[in-house]
Amino acid sequence: MDQCPDVLTIQAVLDGEEKSEKVNRHIQNCLSCRQVYRDLSGLVSAADRLGSEAVLPDQFYKTLTARVAAKPFPAGLVAAVMFLFTFLSAYLLEPGYIQWWLSVGMTGQISYVLDIFFDVLFMLQTLGPFWLIITLTTLVVFEVLILNKLKVVEGLNDG
Ligand SMILES: [Zn+2]
Repeated sequence: MDQCPDVLTIQAVLDGEEKSEKVNRHIQNCLSCRQVYRDLSGLVSAADRLGSEAVLPDQFYKTLTARVAAKPFPAGLVAAVMFLFTFLSAYLLEPGYIQWWLSVGMTGQISYVLDIFFDVLFMLQTLGPFWLIITLTTLVVFEVLILNKLKVVEGLNDG
């Protein structure tokens, strides 16, 4: 045999699938083919060692799947952490700012709600006493309904 066999043929010889006398003799006599044969048999025995010694734990694939699977992004938690971080760094950099926000900012929000309340009152006054009475009556009826509902819930809790 003049030409060297390809790697697949040498692999076949190693696996015992290729039993040609010519190929076998060539591998024994040819330095480069012998080297390929030795490399391949080294790989095979290494693969055998891997296969025989390593035993995967029972839960391996389950654990792997759980780890690889995309976890839901905890957006709420991240937002809370970022808010806390911002709050803390603002406090550490300028403690007075937080106090300012708590006093002026909070008061501003409360006064905004109060403004709306008074605006509604003024609007009702301009509409006349009729609408004021209707609105207040509606609120009273609504409150009575809520209280009744709460009483029912309490009654269920007692019984
Ligand atoms: Zn050769």
